Amino acid sequence: MTDRSFLAWPFFEDHHRQLADDVEEWACSNLDGINHENVDSACRDLVARLGEGGWLLHTAIDPDNAASRLDVRSLCLIRETLARHDGLADFAFAMQGLGTGALSLFGTESQRRAWLGETRQGNAVSAFALSEPKSGSDVANLELSATPDGDSYLLNGEKTWISNGGIADVYTLFARTGEGPGAKGISAFIVPANTKGLLIAERLEVIAPHPLARLVFDSCRIPASAMIGMPGQGFRIAMSVLDVFRSTVAAAALGFARKALDESVARANSRHLFGAPMSDLQMVQGHIADMALDIDAAALLVYRAAWLKDSGAERVSREAAMAKLFATDHAQSVIDKAVQIHGGEGVRKGSAVERLYREIRALRIYEGASDVQKIIIARQELARG
Ligand SMILES: Cc1cc2nc3c(=O)[nH]c(=O)nc-3n(C[C@H](O)[C@H](O)[C@H](O)COP(=O)(O)OP(=O)(O)OC[C@H]3O[C@@H](n4cnc5c(N)ncnc54)[C@H](O)[C@@H]3O)c2cc1C
Repeated sequence: MTDRSFLAWPFFEDHHRQLADDVEEWACSNLDGINHENVDSACRDLVARLGEGGWLLHTAIDPDNAASRLDVRSLCLIRETLARHDGLADFAFAMQGLGTGALSLFGTESQRRAWLGETRQGNAVSAFALSEPKSGSDVANLELSATPDGDSYLLNGEKTWISNGGIADVYTLFARTGEGPGAKGISAFIVPANTKGLLIAERLEVIAPHPLARLVFDSCRIPASAMIGMPGQGFRIAMSVLDVFRSTVAAAALGFARKALDESVARANSRHLFGAPMSDLQMVQGHIADMALDIDAAALLVYRAAWLKDSGAERVSREAAMAKLFATDHAQSVIDKAVQIHGGEGVRKGSAVERLYREIRALRIYEGASDVQKIIIARQELARG
């Protein structure tokens, strides 16, 4: 039985506790038996189901309500719960938010109306296209160009590692418009997937399969009205979006770690070794204690960052970086211990902990690798001096 005592923490309001109960109940009755063999159709199916369940309403602001805002605690609670039940469901949910975050935070009314109604209902799939072959961590040096041409821009270049690449209906794209050097010369755009010149050049396979692609933009023409925010504001927009969604990656890691602990407790209680329950072995108890400690520490960091953002902090880069760094790195260690406790069963293909072992790894790389999170934290500490 998953520990839900954290819901009593003062970071939450009663509607968050209700949300956690509701999404848990929904996940229990809607996420069993989803066939993951074809990740494209599984993801589209999950987006539709999450839309029907009303969960995607949390991923973007309501374009018809000027007071609507993203609630990071709700996003984290939903991601944590979905990740505990089904990693691909968490992925499908998360991408609807990441792919439209720039519109929620910086879009015009007409841009929001054009897309957010559809993505919040699960009728359109979204993606976030920032990384390029030569600039993943080094995003300030991205090269894909957006050149003004009359009342439009011509896009030329490549994006890679784009989640939902190949199944997305719409991409938030970051391109070099050249207002200044490096980070100062990047702008954000909204680009429908069916725009002429946007090509899915390659599908990428990873250890925990989900839709992923390399995209080529070949004289791809988009109207000037597709720009999100102001010229040269793209880097700031990307970082603001990550400031919201980084804590949610940490929440997903937390969900994976909780599942690993649940599986380990069940295994230790049910298996007998040397004539006694495995849970009597003190080294197993040591593993269980370390896992529980890592999980609570991660949860405190995740929900501190989320609460701080929801309380009106404009940027929470330090807190979100701490949450992501700690929760993802320590979920890896929790899951590794779970594999150890399961013995041979832990590495058997298709077992719950074997899946978690593959699923957690990429979270320490995307939306800023662990090393990059350390730099964000250290810079803020050093600046105080
Ligand atoms: C499964 C998956 C899904 C993804 N989805 C998306 C997506 O939807 N949209 C998108 O735009 N991108 C996406 N990415 C790309 C992801 O954001 C990049 O892979 C990530 O930023 C790292 O960039 P890179 O792969 O080019 O590695 P590099 O930038 O080459 O970095 C390699 C390693 O070097 C180390 N490193 C990097 N910088 C520093 C530094 N300053 N100091 C010390 N060490 C450092 C880190 O350990 C890092 O892992 C995804 C990646 C994966 C694996």
